[in-house]
Amino acid sequence: MCIKLSVSNCDLVNHLVDVCTTIYLPKCSLRCPYCFNLDVVDGKNLKNYTERTLTEEIINSKQKNFVITGGEALFDFSVFKLIIKIINKTNPESIQVNTNMMHPNELLWFVENVDNPLVAFDLKADLSDYYKLNPIFADTKKRFLQSLNILKINKKLKEIQCRTTLSNYVSEDTLLEMPKLLTGFGENFTWSLQDLEPKKIYSKAKVESFMRKIKSGYGIKVLHNGE
Ligand code: SF4
Repeated sequence: MCIKLSVSNCDLVNHLVDVCTTIYLPKCSLRCPYCFNLDVVDGKNLKNYTERTLTEEIINSKQKNFVITGGEALFDFSVFKLIIKIINKTNPESIQVNTNMMHPNELLWFVENVDNPLVAFDLKADLSDYYKLNPIFADTKKRFLQSLNILKINKKLKEIQCRTTLSNYVSEDTLLEMPKLLTGFGENFTWSLQDLEPKKIYSKAKVESFMRKIKSGYGIKVLHNGE
């Protein structure tokens, strides 16, 4: 079996808690117009592995924390499960998946079958506007809400982060409505707002004012560009 992906060892950015090895998988169930990872989505500049060579690479990374991302990590589920099997050979401290929430059945498998799971998920727009992100599925709202429910009721998750890129698809009204979806998580939940680069849509003052409203109105821990 030939597996096409990219491995980044000693990654200081992707994991919610610690340094990690990050595995980038191609393909995605959305095609966001502002995607900054299109090379990965399209499978460009990725390396070909066999199960044996990927196992060697992951074991040699000597990391204890892993992130599987993309593209969409859960898009090709057989490859995803193979990577989990390989990572488990290292007795990992944690495995994090980054997901766009369009794959609830696969997400359920992940949170039920991985020992120390972490999840970072995207909330990209009002759920009724997901069609603007060129999804391959028609039922994006249903898929997102199923995924959200899976995360809210799961008690094993060590950390959960929702990520929202402040793009043209996130109006001020949308920003004020989004927190209603994000209540019901525990202490291990954060909402991370990220400016669209290189052209910011909102000023820093505007985002800070919004963050104050969220903290006081909903008690949600909210970050802006990681701070
Ligand atoms: S979900 Fe992420 S990887 Fe997929 S197209 Fe959108 S921004 Fe790119």
